[in-house]
Amino acid sequence: MQLLKDRIRKDGKIKGGNVLKVDSFLNHQMDIKLFGEIGKEFKRRFADVEVNKILTIEASGIGIACVVAQYFDVPVVFAKKNKTKNIAGDVYTSQVESFTHGRVYDIMVSKEFLGEGDKVLLIDDFLANGKALEGLAALVKDSGAELVGAGIVIEKGFQVGGDNIRRQGIRLESLAIVESMDEETGTIVFRGDE
Ligand code: 5GP
Repeated sequence: MQLLKDRIRKDGKIKGGNVLKVDSFLNHQMDIKLFGEIGKEFKRRFADVEVNKILTIEASGIGIACVVAQYFDVPVVFAKKNKTKNIAGDVYTSQVESFTHGRVYDIMVSKEFLGEGDKVLLIDDFLANGKALEGLAALVKDSGAELVGAGIVIEKGFQVGGDNIRRQGIRLESLAIVESMDEETGTIVFRGDE
């Protein structure tokens, strides 16, 4: 998606540890007009599948998922990151290893909001090692719902997540795939642009 790639080149900041900071438009301050274009693009790419629910993970997936959901006209459910060990039995849970914080946490979704008959599209801001998506996919599987695909705003193609998710047969659409980025020169190369 050219508009997104241009914006990443203009406002993205490359940090150490393979982190791309896009918090001026994507996951801290949020450019809602851009989100609208992102929503349209996901709808176009997943036009051939039936979706009745969007599932994301708190916190940075929520804003994007909400705007995307308007184009699909479906509700958004977000997996909560569980801080207490005190979870009731009426939830699906799975574990996620955080890329940005390097620790493992539980995620959960109430059984009330996910289950058989649901056709679920996963949406998240970033794909790095794929743990967040794998955790969400596990919740969908446990619930008996159908996973129709995953939409990612920025995939870091030099990390393992994208390959792992595709290998599992999950349909993955990433709007910008960063093939490489150089902290010193500030150069970002996108897949397809080389
Ligand atoms: P994964 O689970 O695929 O390793 O990492 C995905 C999660 O980590 C995303 O939900 C996102 O919040 C965070 N993340 C991974 N890489 C980056 C990055 O380069 N920049 C930012 N801002 N967040 C990232």
